Amino acid sequence: MKKAIFPGSFDPLTLGHCEIIEKATQIFDELIVSVGNNYEKKYKFTLDKRLEFISSEFKNNPKVIVKSYDGLTAEFCKKMNVNHIVRGLRNPADFEFEKKIALFNNSLEKIETIFFLTSPNYAFISSSIVREIIDNNGDYRKFVPKSVSF
Ligand code: ADP
Repeated sequence: MKKAIFPGSFDPLTLGHCEIIEKATQIFDELIVSVGNNYEKKYKFTLDKRLEFISSEFKNNPKVIVKSYDGLTAEFCKKMNVNHIVRGLRNPADFEFEKKIALFNNSLEKIETIFFLTSPNYAFISSSIVREIIDNNGDYRKFVPKSVSF
């Protein structure tokens, strides 16, 4: 069974993340969407909320498993016995940033990172932009899936 981990903050889940999850589940038999909980990081949504948005959105896709983790992603992969990480790429800046992390994870635990490109209509979406829209009472709903409501 081919398994991969899709790590991220998902604060909150966006349509961009959903597209990557859909693409990855066409290739992997199981995708563990892994919600990072770093004690030094401040999140807008609680860990429970971030997990709930994803579980509820993908409740009908048996290939999607949702888990939380803290610490290094490579350590979590080892613990789960998974050698592949999935990440999304929106632009060259994402690539430069992701390349360093992918090489680091490869040298640490021999993990391969698989990248999926975002379609142009989602490439400008980020969780941070969605948070800013919410904080300013804007209409965030066209950037997130239905499950993200509060
Ligand atoms: P992190 O804090 O790890 O960057 P995010 O939740 O922001 O967590 O992102 C998780 C993953 O989702 C990353 O690979 C990121 O590139 C990808 N991603 C974020 N937004 C989009 C988007 N609009 N389209 C495609 N991929 C995205």
